[in-house]
Amino acid sequence: MTDILVVGAGPAGLTAALYACRAVKSVLVLEKETFGGQITHSPKVENYPGIAQMSGTQFADWLLEQTLAQGAEVEMETVTAVRREGENFAVETEGETYTAKAVILATGSHHRQLGLPNENDLVGEGVSYCAVCDGAFYQGKRVAVIGGGNTALQEAVLLSETCAHVTLVQNLPVFTGEEKLLEILRGRDNVSFITNTVVSELLGAQALEGIVLDTDGKKSTLTVDGIFVAIGQVPENEPFRDLVPLNEYGYFNVDERCVTGEAGVFVAGDCRQKTVRQITTATADGASAAIAACRYIDALHRGDGGGRQSRRADRGVRSAFHRRGRAGALARRACGRMRRAAGRLRVSGGASGRSGERGRQGYDVPRVRGAAGAGDGRARPHFLHRIV
Ligand SMILES: Cc1cc2nc3c(=O)[nH]c(=O)nc-3n(C[C@H](O)[C@H](O)[C@H](O)COP(=O)(O)OP(=O)(O)OC[C@H]3O[C@@H](n4cnc5c(N)ncnc54)[C@H](O)[C@@H]3O)c2cc1C
Repeated sequence: MTDILVVGAGPAGLTAALYACRAVKSVLVLEKETFGGQITHSPKVENYPGIAQMSGTQFADWLLEQTLAQGAEVEMETVTAVRREGENFAVETEGETYTAKAVILATGSHHRQLGLPNENDLVGEGVSYCAVCDGAFYQGKRVAVIGGGNTALQEAVLLSETCAHVTLVQNLPVFTGEEKLLEILRGRDNVSFITNTVVSELLGAQALEGIVLDTDGKKSTLTVDGIFVAIGQVPENEPFRDLVPLNEYGYFNVDERCVTGEAGVFVAGDCRQKTVRQITTATADGASAAIAACRYIDALHRGDGGGRQSRRADRGVRSAFHRRGRAGALARRACGRMRRAAGRLRVSGGASGRSGERGRQGYDVPRVRGAAGAGDGRARPHFLHRIV
């Protein structure tokens, strides 16, 4: 039985684990794909307070390392359901069932698709959702970025550094991303802009050869070697719908306290309804969710109505610091667990990401596949390479 089980090892989930460990709770984090979450796709992060510049992968490495050192246990597994069993929870993955006193859902989100018939067939053959992962394949080639928000503009900036030409295709009359990014793009002569236009067809059978654009019903063809779809994110909350209700967009409708209506269940990060989805807001949520979960468990132990989300603020967390002796033991246990977890991961060393090329940051990112079948070949934090 784990005190707190965290679903998702992005910035929110890992921060939640870190805080819960420091409150001397036993913590297990289950991650289906990439330790570090979405931020591992970002080559350059310049807005995290206190760190002028880092890559998303570096941030993921540091955070995972820090969390493991505090005693958290991590496993590469996809959580398929969480069920209440009396006062506790049964957390089901594809291969195991874990039990926990409290659960923190920090499942983040994933890229939205265009929804065109042959889109999935062309993924990796000209259709991409991540310039950081796949941009290197298109050096010297012509590409289009679909979308007009910050992500689309960031991807276009990145691609315009190496591609022959980048066309931004936006369905609205204006671009909605930051003016500063637009200024950069306007200053580049290999970038052009198309507005009021949607992609209506993907051309090519084995590989993308071009796209059909629809501007107010008028069709035209744009010849490109690749497209980068950046039209938003979809939350990953569907498996938990029965446990915590979702809003119309599929997000958990929970405020910054991260407490749900289901006693013992907390949510953190991009998976909840919020206006700003950034690392800072995800890590803030992770801290809030962990503190709330610790209070809940402490109330359960005291037997004073732990079924309610306790309002006795920091008492449990403060008392935890007086019991620090347990932390060393937990850390030692975690090291053993880490080695076992590492043994269950297959690493094809030296290769980086989908193609085995060097990452943009200039260091190798190994390809790591989880035993639970996360074998999609996506870039994984190189920290895993070091612990194996
Ligand atoms: C290209 C890009 C660039 C960005 N640049 C910046 C930036 O410069 N600065 C900034 O502050 N933010 C940036 N962001 C946003 C930032 O990455 C996110 O806001 C942040 O990662 C959200 O953290 P999270 O932990 O809530 O979710 P995520 O990072 O999405 O992590 C959630 C994790 O949960 C896992 N998961 C989901 N479902 C399950 C399940 N059923 N079982 C097990 N695991 C599961 C997922 O695999 C994932 O690893 C960027 C995002 C992208 C995509």
